Amino acid sequence: MSAPGTDGRPGPVPRAARELRLRGTPASPGIAVGYVHVIAADAPPVARRRVAPEEVESERRRLDHALLETRRELLELQGKLRGVRSPDEAKIFDAHLLMLADPHVLENVQRLLEEERLNAEAAFHDVLSAVITPMERVEDPYLRDRAADIRDVKRRVIKNLTGGVRPFQDLPPDAIIVAHDLTPTVTAELDKDRVRGFGTEAGSSTSHTAILARSLEIPAVVGLGYVSEALRQGELVILDGGEGLLIRNPSEATLEEYQRTAVSLERRRALGLRVRDLPSVTRCGTPFRLEANIEVPREVEVARLYGAEGIGLFRTEFLFLRAGGFPDEEQQLAVYRQIVAGMEGRPVTIRTLDLGGDKMPTDLYAEPEMNPFLGWRGIRYSLDHPELFRIQLRAVLRASAEGPIRIMFPLVSSIEELRRGREAVAAAREELEAEGEPVGETVPIGAMVETPAAALLADSLAAEADFLSIGTNDLTQYTLAVDRGNARVQGLFRAFHPGVLLLLERTAQAGAAAGIEVSLCGEMASSARAAVLLLGMGLRSFSMIAARLPRVKAALRDATVAEAEALWAHCRGLRTAVEVEELVNAEFGARLREVRAREEPEPMETGG
Ligand code: PEP
Ligand code: MG
Repeated sequence: MSAPGTDGRPGPVPRAARELRLRGTPASPGIAVGYVHVIAADAPPVARRRVAPEEVESERRRLDHALLETRRELLELQGKLRGVRSPDEAKIFDAHLLMLADPHVLENVQRLLEEERLNAEAAFHDVLSAVITPMERVEDPYLRDRAADIRDVKRRVIKNLTGGVRPFQDLPPDAIIVAHDLTPTVTAELDKDRVRGFGTEAGSSTSHTAILARSLEIPAVVGLGYVSEALRQGELVILDGGEGLLIRNPSEATLEEYQRTAVSLERRRALGLRVRDLPSVTRCGTPFRLEANIEVPREVEVARLYGAEGIGLFRTEFLFLRAGGFPDEEQQLAVYRQIVAGMEGRPVTIRTLDLGGDKMPTDLYAEPEMNPFLGWRGIRYSLDHPELFRIQLRAVLRASAEGPIRIMFPLVSSIEELRRGREAVAAAREELEAEGEPVGETVPIGAMVETPAAALLADSLAAEADFLSIGTNDLTQYTLAVDRGNARVQGLFRAFHPGVLLLLERTAQAGAAAGIEVSLCGEMASSARAAVLLLGMGLRSFSMIAARLPRVKAALRDATVAEAEALWAHCRGLRTAVEVEELVNAEFGARLREVRAREEPEPMETGG
């Protein structure tokens, strides 16, 4: 268990009498005991610029959109408060809602947009600050409270204009972070020495934030609903990432119980590590391959600890999402070299930049996209930014002189994209060779299968790619039209949906027919039950969050290909995700219970 230390803790906070269990969605298993550190959904520093005359209209639309979104948030918050607490508390938000529609404020903002041609966040900031500042100077407590309300409205609107929260520093030790949401970038930069775990009001278990938390082994619960306003800074809580619980005012008995659970989890983890050095072969002697997904170089250590046979997916976009601009060729080269060196001769699959969707620096687009997951992301973005792409490919190819590297393109949805990607690699190689730079002789080039189009065209892709890798997180999202990061539709996100499974089978068969490797690197690979089903479809290579490797290895070592094929043949005839899930559970229930007794519990019932 991540237990709190003694130095530098926040001052004692009186314990309220009753233990309270707040339920969210499990995002990253593990138990943490620590002190609440609420991150206000603070707006990032307000960017200020003058826009071109033709941009004024789009700034106004951005502002309208942010005002509407803020109104929606406030009404939701108000509705919740009405339901669970006193109606009086809910009324607080009436003042906020009025401020959002105040004609005087809106007129002034409009004037700054049109006459001064300020960008929307700066205009809104200036008008509200002009209201707040004189109120704050007055000694009247009523006016000061009203100023705080207006500041809150300002903060919410600017947050909705810019997105996300600011990366935070100077955290107290043993912090359990509570925030409305954390961006993947912020999560990637969490200081594990200080942060025991985190809970967010929004989010789902397949968002990049949740994936990162699992990769970094930070216990996390998402989708807690509006809790941050009720929690006190510095209060002691237990966060149970496996169960999706945040426990306030834990009793002595609960604290002791969690202490015991943490010890047993640690024991299971140690037992799991025992399979690490056993060969990756099924009970019938068929070899398989298990690799790790990483987002930041420090995860190489975790990948090695859990016995990864390579890096099956390095999500390079996290290098680009950090503050201070995009990394140049030398900076990227240093990171790729570090990973190659850390893996000591095992292959490293570097995925080219997959910006977009929920991984977008807030200042990159003047106008946010309405449907970012369907927008400028993945290989499309790189092909439209040839210089950025060229620099990344040069850095990857230079690193390939020092160890086995594979290049993989994200979100391929047409053969032309694969071809253009390959051409860009060939051009970068030619350039480097002309400069006398050493480059690895063979650098396989693969495509991710993450869209229904790619899966349906798997035969053609397999004819032109050196390998394929299935990204079930996106493939599920695009096939089922279910936003992978939206807590409201999380129940519809089912990787065992027959529609998704048929696309997986088609891709596996296309790879086999072409004689190329097909790997699966979506979250689905970290589910032991899913891995066995996928074995039955013909897949032999899986890449996942490193901590899940021992568990999946144990299950695959326990399986035979004939059993797995029979299971898939049976599932193939079923018509609903629930039927498939039930059958997989029933068939492998007994075996999985055995494995479960040795390892940590399976976190995602739907095999996301
Ligand atoms: C996927 O979509 O399954 C995948 C592995 O890519 P990402 O989660 O980074 O979008
Ligand atoms: Mg993806």
